[in-house]
Amino acid sequence: MSTHRYDIIIVGAGGAGLFAALAASQDPNVSVAVVSKLYPTRSHTGAAQGGIGAALGNLEEDSWEWHMFDTVKGADYLADQDAVEILCREAVDIVYELEHMGLPFSRTEDGKIAQRPFGGHTKNFGEGPVKRSCYAADRTGHMILQTLYQQCIKNNVVFYDEYHVLDLIIEKEQCVGVVAAEIETSELATFHAKAVLLATGGNGRMFSITSNAHALTGDGMSMALRNGIPLQDMEFFQFHPTGIYKMGILLSEAARGEGGILRNNLGERFMERYTPTLKDLAPRDMVSRFIHKEVTEGRGIDGKDYVHLELMHLGKKVIDEKLPDITEFVRVYMGIDPLKDPIPVQPTAHYAMGGVPTNVNSEVVVDEHNKVMPGLYAAGETACVSVHGANRLGTNSLVDILVFGRRAGRSMIEYAKNHSHVPISSDPQEKIKEEMNLWRKGSSKGSLKVGALREELQKKMMRKASVFRVENQLQEMEAEIEVLKEKYKDCYIDDTSKNFNTDLFEAMELGNLLDLSQALVTAAIARKESRGAHSREDYPDRDDKNWLKHSLAYQKNGKIELKTKPVIITKFQPKERKY
Ligand SMILES: Cc1cc2nc3c(=O)[nH]c(=O)nc-3n(C[C@H](O)[C@H](O)[C@H](O)COP(=O)(O)OP(=O)(O)OC[C@H]3O[C@@H](n4cnc5c(N)ncnc54)[C@H](O)[C@@H]3O)c2cc1C
Repeated sequence: MSTHRYDIIIVGAGGAGLFAALAASQDPNVSVAVVSKLYPTRSHTGAAQGGIGAALGNLEEDSWEWHMFDTVKGADYLADQDAVEILCREAVDIVYELEHMGLPFSRTEDGKIAQRPFGGHTKNFGEGPVKRSCYAADRTGHMILQTLYQQCIKNNVVFYDEYHVLDLIIEKEQCVGVVAAEIETSELATFHAKAVLLATGGNGRMFSITSNAHALTGDGMSMALRNGIPLQDMEFFQFHPTGIYKMGILLSEAARGEGGILRNNLGERFMERYTPTLKDLAPRDMVSRFIHKEVTEGRGIDGKDYVHLELMHLGKKVIDEKLPDITEFVRVYMGIDPLKDPIPVQPTAHYAMGGVPTNVNSEVVVDEHNKVMPGLYAAGETACVSVHGANRLGTNSLVDILVFGRRAGRSMIEYAKNHSHVPISSDPQEKIKEEMNLWRKGSSKGSLKVGALREELQKKMMRKASVFRVENQLQEMEAEIEVLKEKYKDCYIDDTSKNFNTDLFEAMELGNLLDLSQALVTAAIARKESRGAHSREDYPDRDDKNWLKHSLAYQKNGKIELKTKPVIITKFQPKERKY
C-alpha cells in the first residue's frame, strides 16, 4: 500500500489549487503537494477567456466599493458581504501580483494593463458600464494557469499529475488526507496530510448543453457531501447567454464587452427593451432569461431556440486583436466567418455558484453556525464562500479562485505549523478498492452503459432544472434521479483493464453527477422564489422575507435534507434589481 505524507495536500491544479500551492510554498518548513486528475495546465481555468475583474481604474475612474456594490447586486443580494469586500479589495493586489510574476496582460497605449467592460460591472453604483476586466486577449485563464504553474515549479512544489482523488480520509471529525488512484495504473495511493484543500472546480457536466470541460464532474463537492459535509446554495447554477448553438462552447461576454450585439429574428436588439441602461451587458442570469423569453414568444431565429450574436460591425482589427480565440472557434466549429455573418447562440450551463461552504479563510464549515471542520479547506468553483450569491458576474470567478486560493494557502501554513499528523486508524483504501473491483468485475452483469445513463441525466436536467424552473417538473426530476440512481447500480463498463481505464473513472464521476443533481433539484424545489439564476415560473418574485438565506444540503440515507443559514449583510441593503 503506497502512502505519501505531506503537511499540505492540495486537490486540483486549476487557478485556485495553484495559487494555494504557491502561497503555501512560501514557507520552506512546510511540505506541499498538489494532486490532480489532469495535467495542471489542462485545468478548466485555462479556458477562461474574458478577463479578471479588478478596480485598477486604468482607463477611467473606478473603486473597489463600486465593484463590491455590483457584485452584491449581481448576486441578487444573496452574497455574504464580508467575503465580497475581501474579494474586491484583494482583487487589485492579486492582479498586480500576477503582473509581477510575468503574466502577459494586454496593454493600453501608455503601457498599463488594459481593461474592458463586462456584464453587470458599473461605475458610481449603477450609472453605466465601466472598464474593469483586465485581460490577455481572450486567453486570460490560459495565461494565469501558465504563469502560476511556472511559479510553482520554480518554488519546488511537488505534483502528482493524473491522480484521481476518490475519497477524503476523516478521523474524529477532522480531515487527515485523501485516497487517490493513479490513472495510468489504477494503483491506489493514500495521501496523509495535516491539511487538505479541495480545489476541484465545477460540475457543469450534469447538463447536456454546457461550456464546461469533460472533467468538470464536481468530484470535490461530491466527496464532501458523501462524508457528511453539507453543500451550500446548490440550486443556483448559472447559464451563460452565449454558448455556440447546440454545442455549448463558450463565446465570452468579452464579445459583448467589445460591442457585440444580440438580435432576434426580427433583427431587433431586444436587450434594449429589457435593460435600457446596460442593454447587452446586463448580468448573465437576466440575458439568458430574456433570450429564453424571445425564443418562447416565437422570436428565435427561424423559429428555433437560438438568437444571433453580431460581431461584424467590430471590424477585423478588434476581432483579431481582442477576440482571436473565440472567433476561431466559430470558424472551426460552425464554418461561419464572424466578420461576415451573425453567430447562432443559446444559453449554456456555465458556473456553479454553490459548493462546499467555507469562511473567508477558506476553512470548510459544516453547519448553520459555521462550525469549522479542522484540516479541511476549499477554494475556487468547488467552494462557496459566498461571493457570488445567486448569480456570479463575469470576471469574478478568476478573482474568487485566486483571492481565496491564496488565502487557503496562507491559512493552511498556519494550521500545519501548529498541528501534527493525526494517525489514520483503519485502511482508508478499502472502500474504494471494493468499488473499483466491483466496476471491473461487473462488466458482464449490468445492462446499461455508463455513457447512456449520463446522457439521460444531462438531457433531463437540461429540460427540467435549467434556465426556468417549475414545481411539477422539478418534482418529476427529483423522482427521476432516484430511478437513475437505481439504474446506476446496474451500469457496466467495457474496459476491465487497469491501464488508463478512463471508463472506470467516468463511471465513478457519473456517481458524483447524480448526487449533485439530486442536491440541486431538492434545493430548487424548496426555494419558492425567483432570485438570480434560480428562476421559478410559479414564484416569479424575489421573497426577501422568507428566502434571504443560504441553503445547506446534507446527504442522509441516499436523500437530501435541507437546512438554511443567514446571509451576512454589511454595506448594502437588498433593493430591487434594475439595470
Ligand atoms: C469556457 C469558460 C470560460 C470562462 N471564462 C471566465 C472568465 O473570463 N472570467 C472568469 O472570471 N471566469 C471564467 N470562467 C469560470 C472560471 O474559469 C472557473 O470558474 C475557474 O477557472 C475555476 O477554477 P478552479 O481552480 O476552481 O477549477 P479548475 O480550473 O476547473 O480546476 C480543477 C482542478 O481540479 C482537478 N480535479 C478535479 N477533480 C479531481 C479529482 N477527483 N482528483 C484530482 N483532481 C481533480 C482537475 O484536474 C483540475 O486541476 C470560465 C469558465 C469556462 C468554462
